[in-house]
Amino acid sequence: MRLLIMGPPGAGKGTQASLIKENFNLAHISTGEMFREAMNEKTPLGIEAKSYMDKGELVPDSITVGLVKERISKEDCNNGFLLDGFPRTISQAKFLDEILKELDIAIDAVINIVVDKSAMVNRIVGRRICPKCGAGYHIDTIKPKKDGICDVCGTALIQRKDDNEETVLNRLSIYEEKTKPLLDYYQEQDLVIDIDGMGDIQDIFKNVANVLGAL
Ligand code: ADP
Ligand code: ADP
Ligand code: ZN
Repeated sequence: MRLLIMGPPGAGKGTQASLIKENFNLAHISTGEMFREAMNEKTPLGIEAKSYMDKGELVPDSITVGLVKERISKEDCNNGFLLDGFPRTISQAKFLDEILKELDIAIDAVINIVVDKSAMVNRIVGRRICPKCGAGYHIDTIKPKKDGICDVCGTALIQRKDDNEETVLNRLSIYEEKTKPLLDYYQEQDLVIDIDGMGDIQDIFKNVANVLGAL
């Protein structure tokens, strides 16, 4: 299965993607996560990406698309993959079409997580992540067993530098302007499956699993 997961910042894409990955044995490709890893390692790509990410702006295509092409061509994607956070613009979607054509494969579905605007801001501002293993938490809704410590690997949790109220508004408006139009692009190909993202994480995942099971 080859899937895209879409939705505004904070919708719960990463959270659902982790569950989909485990249950459907797919490679999870998150461009945001790849940039954060490069940032932590202070590679030239990471340093450049950081200057955009900290302001909540999109990293230029010249950096992003090559990274995705290289990643999709890796062997662990042969069994299928889930793209999270890419494409984010029509030009990225067109580039993805070219990569898929070269590899002679196609996308099976686009999972679109739908949430209320107030939930996005709350989810983003309260998000905490593990800098080591990438696990996600929330200060009110998904608390770790031990305050501020990752359940999976015991590392101290951090708040992403771009997860603050100012940057959030910029990210939301970029989503509206540049990424949301992609839903029409994929709707025309009859690929979009809307999933209500406002409930409990496991209930949302049950809906996702039902839909994917029927593909
Ligand atoms: P995205 O990848 O779309 O930006 P995340 O999966 O990182 O979103 O989720 C954003 C925040 O909201 C995280 O703190 C996460 O723990 C929390 N979250 C995710 N899904 C839910 C949900 N169904 N209910 C409440 N909080 C959630
Ligand atoms: P969120 O989960 O809040 O949607 P991500 O982790 O997907 O955030 O992305 C964080 C940041 O990384 C984005 O605000 C953007 O700066 C950069 N980024 C991630 N994916 C892309 C992409 N496909 N194109 C351009 N920039 C990207
Ligand atoms: Zn961890």
